[in-house]
Amino acid sequence: MTTMNASDEALMPPLPLVTEETRPFWDSCKAGVLRLQRCSSCLEFRFPPSVICPACSSMDCSWEPVSGMGSIFSFVTFQRLYHKAFASLLPYVVAVIELEEGPRMVSRLVGLGEQDSVKCGALVKVRFERLSDDLALPLFEMLGAQ
Ligand SMILES: [Zn+2]
Repeated sequence: MTTMNASDEALMPPLPLVTEETRPFWDSCKAGVLRLQRCSSCLEFRFPPSVICPACSSMDCSWEPVSGMGSIFSFVTFQRLYHKAFASLLPYVVAVIELEEGPRMVSRLVGLGEQDSVKCGALVKVRFERLSDDLALPLFEMLGAQ
């Protein structure tokens, strides 16, 4: 049996809440595949997961693998520590990624070298970070980064 003390808990990052609606997304991430909901009526991809298509209000959809490729729509570099779990990452970059298929996703950039400059429009691809047996996060790395 594993027990956690208060200092261990402070070092755990805040984790996503997996719901019935979002479970297919997180299960795919765990398997190393980025999947998005796609409306069966208008064929639009969407994120975050929702019961109803925001484009046409259809409730019919499927989960389809996507390329995992995208570009940086916007980003911010965190210089200040807001959570102890991220202390070793400072400074780190949180970006809005515009996926090739259209939807935007907020994530963290990884694999950056000191000489890499983050720019809007830079191409990125998904890379999964496994946090536990049950959870992997979709993070992004810049193409061409060191
Ligand atoms: Zn639709």
